[in-house]
Amino acid sequence: MSKLKYPFLDLGTVSAAYADGLKAAACRVIDSGRYVGGGECEAFEKQLARHTGTKYAVGVSNGLDALRLILRAYMALGKLAKGDEVIVPANTYIATVLAITDAGLTPVFVDADLSTLNIDTSLIERAVTPRTRAIMTVHLYGRPAYDDVMASVARRHGLLIIEDNAQAIGADVDGTKTGALGDAAAFSFYPTKNVGAIGDAGAVTTNDNALADAVRALANYGSDTRYHNIYQGFNCRLDPIQAAFLRLKLDDIDTETRHRRALAAIYDAEIGNALVGKPRLATPDNCVWHQYVVRVGNRDKFRAYLTANGVGSDVHYAVPPYLQPCYMQYSHLHFPVTEQLAAEVVSLPISRCTGADDARAIAAIINAYTDD
Ligand SMILES: *Cc1c(COP(=O)(O)O)cnc(C)c1O
Repeated sequence: MSKLKYPFLDLGTVSAAYADGLKAAACRVIDSGRYVGGGECEAFEKQLARHTGTKYAVGVSNGLDALRLILRAYMALGKLAKGDEVIVPANTYIATVLAITDAGLTPVFVDADLSTLNIDTSLIERAVTPRTRAIMTVHLYGRPAYDDVMASVARRHGLLIIEDNAQAIGADVDGTKTGALGDAAAFSFYPTKNVGAIGDAGAVTTNDNALADAVRALANYGSDTRYHNIYQGFNCRLDPIQAAFLRLKLDDIDTETRHRRALAAIYDAEIGNALVGKPRLATPDNCVWHQYVVRVGNRDKFRAYLTANGVGSDVHYAVPPYLQPCYMQYSHLHFPVTEQLAAEVVSLPISRCTGADDARAIAAIINAYTDD
């Protein structure tokens, strides 16, 4: 396929802007002779905790492991037990649900809100049962999924709030960053995320000292001190070379967020086509626009039109987790809003590969789309 004029995302182009710094970071790690743990990881963890506004940040191998480790750590601390129920949005990436079932916990899905595409917080309370112990909220597409309703249900029923912050680093609710809203949060630094590593990486943030220690131990064979194993753990550590890359990328997060918000504002102002539903802008804009997701009835036709006009696009996500083949036991469930989204969502280009003029051109192309 020939290269599109307006690619959805080209990671090589994104990295090129950081090339000198990334190469210097790699050399620093190679020359250090320290290839697991060490100063790069510690420095990145401090930087992430400062950025998020939490007491602790623990670097781990990826976002899924960050979620898994939080749940396993709560189990190790006696706050969760096998068979407990965890409320989770029906509209999420499958990793959120995989972490829950991996730990032997039961996901209880709640439908999405058509205006935020996030969990419909007004539906959370009726999903609570005597076995519910936690809400796993997901700040999907970079929009915080946390409000007073969720906080109040959690408080009244004694539920933990665990944030899947894989898509929303830098977002906030009234000045509190995502990752600091609940009891613990998982971050992913998968290369396509707003802060992306040059490979896999993740982190856990929390203000809970016992949880941070348990996550760190579980990620390191269950070892609290060398050759002393308090848990049957895993090897889910953050690589120092990724930590060195991430120190640089996290330093630049405000530029990344500003860029995404500027593109979202252009799309919002300039896309005007009755066939294309735009996401709601927040005022002030507290969303970090991991994806700019429009809704279109005849998605295949719309995407073919975009491609024919040189515009890349993607779909996040076409099949909800509970309808995936690996979750046959949930295939009888039905969440109308989530299923409508799965059929209609299209993600438009919003990375550093896309400039303001590109966004205007993309909007003009979208405005010329017809369904006949
Ligand atoms: C990317 C992502 C994850 C998983 O992160 P990895 O680093 O790819 O394991 C989890 N949840 C959500 C919502 C994600 O977007």
